[in-house]
Amino acid sequence: MSSSSRPETGQGLVVLDRDGVINRESAEFIKTADEWLPLPGSLEAIAALTRSGFVVVVATNQSGVGRGFITRTALREINNRMNRDIEQAGGRLAGIFMCLHRPEENCSCRKPRPGLLHQIEARFGCSLRDRPVVGDSARDIEAAHAVGARAILVRTGNGTETEHRFDGDNSVEVYDDLAAVARSLINTGDAR
Ligand SMILES: [Mg+2]
Ligand SMILES: [Zn+2]
Repeated sequence: MSSSSRPETGQGLVVLDRDGVINRESAEFIKTADEWLPLPGSLEAIAALTRSGFVVVVATNQSGVGRGFITRTALREINNRMNRDIEQAGGRLAGIFMCLHRPEENCSCRKPRPGLLHQIEARFGCSLRDRPVVGDSARDIEAAHAVGARAILVRTGNGTETEHRFDGDNSVEVYDDLAAVARSLINTGDAR
């Protein structure tokens, strides 16, 4: 986690889910840095967003930690790898916000609850209302809706299954992958 400066006026902030958006999803959890495999084009997409002035933030459920499948050390190594790979591509993450709880702990931060998004609002001193929140699962979309954000679904990870659930729901924007999202956000000058 690096800078936490507030986005300047005219500067965009975009929130990304991690698994299935930036890297490959795994039903068995991503337990080590070696298992963290970026999706094609995702690192370049984050780099393009960064160059265009977007503050890029990750919000991710990692209940494998609470369940004991992922150690804190491994999680730190995974975050280091993600940051390093993104920086090598020319991008930058302004923060990684994680829920490490098990579902049965009923915390307020595990998506679909909006706690992580509220943490981001507090840290960056801005509202996420109408700002892009990108995910591949229904819980990402529901969390986005809970804070009035722009819910953006990608067809990577669980995205194609999720798309059926929101069929005909025009409060969800759907793109093939993070690269397509980045192109759209950059082209429409949505860095607000
Ligand atoms: Mg996901
Ligand atoms: Zn939590």
